[in-house]
Parts: sequence; C-alpha cells; structure tokens
Amino acid sequence: MTNPQVLQTAINGASNKRFKMPKWGLVTEFTFNSAHYIKDYDGLCGRMHGHNYKVRIEATSSKLNSSEHCPHPVMVVDFKTLRWAKQDVTKGGLDHCVLNEVMPSEYETTGDMIAKYIYDVTKKRVPSDLQLKVAMSETPNSWVEYEDD
Ligand SMILES: [Zn+2]
Repeated sequence: MTNPQVLQTAINGASNKRFKMPKWGLVTEFTFNSAHYIKDYDGLCGRMHGHNYKVRIEATSSKLNSSEHCPHPVMVVDFKTLRWAKQDVTKGGLDHCVLNEVMPSEYETTGDMIAKYIYDVTKKRVPSDLQLKVAMSETPNSWVEYEDD
C-alpha cells in the first residue's frame, strides 16, 4: 500500500517542478533604430535623441507548437513571431520611429519599460506555456532584462 504522505510529496514535487523536464531554448537577437526622450527627466535623457537598440529574446518550453505559418507542432515558436519589434513601424514594429509616439502611454521609454513592452506584446502572441525573457540594450555596456518568474 502506498503511503499517502509519500504520494502527496510526489504530487507536490511535480507541481513545484522539482522533476525537471527536458526543454528547448530559443534565442534570437535583433536591433532597431529609434528616437525617444524620457518625460520629466532632468538631464540629457530628457531631450530627444536616438539609440541603436539591441534586443535579445529567449523562449523556453518543453512542448512544441504549430505556428501561424506551419500547421504542425514542430517548433517552440516561430522566430518571426519573436522578432516583430525589428520590423519597420509602418509594419507594426518599433524601427525608425519616435517611441514616445508609438508605445502606449502607460509605458515610459526607459530601457526597463521598453523591455517590458516588448515582453508584454510578445507574450500575447506566443503559446501560453512558453517562458520568455527579454533583454534590451541602449548602449554597448548596459542591459535590462525582464522575464517570467
Ligand atoms: Zn535614450
């Protein structure tokens, strides 16, 4: 007879993800060029200026999915889906625009909030089981990361 305590521990362990599943990790990097200013910032960042933004997106899953372009469950997610922000602003991306005019007003254009914005939009477009991490850089030596817990 199975000890209920042992069984419960096993169930709890599974729900706590203590039993590790093999998984895929996708990484894609891209750049876009845009202008911005930080509202009410006392200093240079408060004036309109531009960056060659670098973005790195990591998607992790133990399950494969179909995509908008392929009906078979053969990929974690289509790279095209992860790279939406690289597109020209007239095609729905963030390239060659003034970010303050394109991003919803609840997002300020700090690297922190651009990373969160890219995360939030991407999260809505990918299968719900994906773990996402978005890293973004305005300058060569500094990065901001925003990710699932
Ligand atoms: Zn800036």
